[in-house]
This record gives sequence, structure tokens and C-alpha cells, in this order.
Amino acid sequence: MRKGPKPTDWTKVKFRLCTKCGKRLGIKQFYWFDKTKPPCSWCISCEKKRVLKWRAKNKDKATQYRHTSYQRVCKEVFEAYGNKCQCCGESRPEFLVIDHKYNDGAKHRRQLKARNFYHWLRQNNYPKDRFQILCWNCNMAKSIYGKCPHKRKKKC
Ligand SMILES: [Zn+2]
Ligand SMILES: [Zn+2]
Ligand SMILES: [Zn+2]
Repeated sequence: MRKGPKPTDWTKVKFRLCTKCGKRLGIKQFYWFDKTKPPCSWCISCEKKRVLKWRAKNKDKATQYRHTSYQRVCKEVFEAYGNKCQCCGESRPEFLVIDHKYNDGAKHRRQLKARNFYHWLRQNNYPKDRFQILCWNCNMAKSIYGKCPHKRKKKC
């Protein structure tokens, strides 16, 4: 059997050479997201400079891109959930929100960052068991009274 060269055990490496500034720095000075892979080849301060430079250069583009991609995701999410309030049928998107059926929204939002919520839904294939579309009215009523007045059966 042919043995390839032994892969570097990155957990044992203490120093790394930044390929940008050429400094030999402690391994903690490098971003390292996935411990099974080598850390970034640029040190943190070089990475930070790079990001700042890119942002300064692409300011408008970056915010605009974020904005339109967010709107697109919103639209996709609403479509996946039926495009209307599941309680009263309101269908104007400005009125609609994604509702946590079991009112565990706060906890869930703490785990995710609010902005990532719609992305999360998409990544998870729009789980229908926990989420639905409601309009602000029905959503508010539900969170305050536990049930939307629309759902209350009229007793005579
Ligand atoms: Zn560097
Ligand atoms: Zn409604
Ligand atoms: Zn309602």
C-alpha cells in the first residue's frame, strides 16, 4: 500500500506564517473556523484590513446587495408559506409576518440573528410544522390573547 505524505496535524501547530505580511505569528492570530482544515493563511489583522478595504470600496454595492437579496428571500419565504395570513387571509405582503406557531419565537430568534431567520427557513426547507404566515393583526392578537379573535367561535 502506498502511503501519502502525512497530513499536518494543525492542532499541534503553534505558529504560522502570514502569507500577506510575512510575519510568523502565534496560531491564535489566525482565523480558524474548521479545525479539520488549516487556518486562514492571512493573519487576523491582515484579514481585517482586507475586509475594511473591500467594504470602503464597495459600500453601496454591499448594502444594496444585502437589501435586494433580503427582499428576494422574504418573497420566497412568503410564497413557500402560502402568501397570505393563515387566519384572516390578508395577502398584502406589507402586513405579513412569519409566525412561530408555538410562540417560541423569542428563544429561536436568540439562537439565530433576526436577519438570518428567513435564510434559516430556506436552508431548512420551510418547516411548516412550526411556522406559518400571519398578518400583524392576527399575530399580535395571538401573542397577547393566546388566540386570534378570528378563531374564537361565536357562541350563541
Ligand atoms: Zn498578516
Ligand atoms: Zn390575519
Ligand atoms: Zn386572525
